[in-house]
Amino acid sequence: MFSLTQLFGRSTFSHGIHPPEHKAETAQRPIRRMPFPQQLVLPLNQHIGKPAVACVKKGQEVVRGEPIAEADSYVSVPLHAPATGRIRGIELMPSARGPRTPSILLDVYESATQEVLWGCERDLDSLSPEQLIQAVRETGMVGLGGAAFPSHVKLTPPTDHAVDTLVVNGCECEPYLTCDHRMMLEWTDALLLGTRIAMRCLGVAQAVIGVEDNKLDAVDAIAARIQPGSGISVKAVPTKYPQGAEKMLIKSVLNREVPPGGIPAQIGVVVNNVGTLSMLGRLLPKGEGLIERVVSVVGPGVERPGNYLVPIGTPVGFVLEQAGHEGRKSEIILGGPMMGTAVPSLDTPITKGTSGVLVLNEPAIDTESRLRSWPCIRCGRCLEACPMHLNPSMLGQLAAKREYEQMGEQYHLMDCFECGCCSYSCPSNIPLVQYFRIAKSILREKP
Ligand code: SF4
Ligand code: SF4
Repeated sequence: MFSLTQLFGRSTFSHGIHPPEHKAETAQRPIRRMPFPQQLVLPLNQHIGKPAVACVKKGQEVVRGEPIAEADSYVSVPLHAPATGRIRGIELMPSARGPRTPSILLDVYESATQEVLWGCERDLDSLSPEQLIQAVRETGMVGLGGAAFPSHVKLTPPTDHAVDTLVVNGCECEPYLTCDHRMMLEWTDALLLGTRIAMRCLGVAQAVIGVEDNKLDAVDAIAARIQPGSGISVKAVPTKYPQGAEKMLIKSVLNREVPPGGIPAQIGVVVNNVGTLSMLGRLLPKGEGLIERVVSVVGPGVERPGNYLVPIGTPVGFVLEQAGHEGRKSEIILGGPMMGTAVPSLDTPITKGTSGVLVLNEPAIDTESRLRSWPCIRCGRCLEACPMHLNPSMLGQLAAKREYEQMGEQYHLMDCFECGCCSYSCPSNIPLVQYFRIAKSILREKP
């Protein structure tokens, strides 16, 4: 049995914000499977690192689950066919990562079924940690929380750091998104299997699953399924944004602090998302690749909001057809409203890192996007909100003057992880985080 003090974390990070959650309309709806569209668009660069290299040709038939692109370096993962069909070609297509991206186009057969026709069952207990990490790599798994960082790399921290704890991120602190919540409730055993696999890869004896306290049903579901002596625990942490950011979550569940500019492994921690580990728990025993993911389709512009199991490569337009869309002037955001990316084209496909499709119709755009801005009134709200203790007001003024180097050298711009708390808090509606994104990309390109 778990006591309340075991389940509830007492410490948390300082600052942050608490925007309206907008979770109620989808949190209680079970995951539903979405059918195949006629054509899937599969970008080769769905992950951080080097894009995969296609290993199929135009006209080739592929079956659901078969590898269609190979990893091209250590920080790279393969790609698998989400449906049975024929390769139409490899073309430049719109994607959330750039206007035109090399992508495999797959025409799905009308007769295509949900049966996965490629895979090889594995006895996971007989595999060494190295073999497990290789098996993770072969699934093509990346961080499903949105980061899309290859999982096998994350499960191989630098050897100069002694990692002792896996922190599993079940916070889902972005408004509107509930896909992680549903996976914790519906795929609990897969999540715990994925957690045990990750612990073996890392060689750690302890894992803590951190869940925001607006999802206590998920805390209960996980606590009820944890095997005594497994080294796994679950902890409820305060609901506030950005509780799901790695550094903030580590502070909340372990009361350890990642040094400025550092990585979690320096303080003995690796963080993985609940969605990633649940999916690993489903795929690894069957030796299958990542071909679908759970996506929250939600927002004032969606008629049938919910969490859908969507084939990777499905165009956003097809997702909206299935979920119903009012068709008024809308803004479509992939991910959550705080850190997601607005996409101009309905042809943009769902990729491995897409956690949500948020549709804001016209009245919501006016309130949520807040298009007009005014001069800074030096109210200090952005400083009170910034979880990294930066000075967004000063950074914003320097950005306006294009003093990018000063932003980096004196005001620690690179410690900003673009959470958007400052922009959200600003009564003058100054698009601070957009300024910082531009400044960071300019600084990165400097020799
Ligand atoms: S976007 Fe950057 S500067 Fe703004 S609150 Fe977040 S970390 Fe701080
Ligand atoms: S919140 Fe906006 S108006 Fe207030 S100090 Fe920061 S940038 Fe200026």
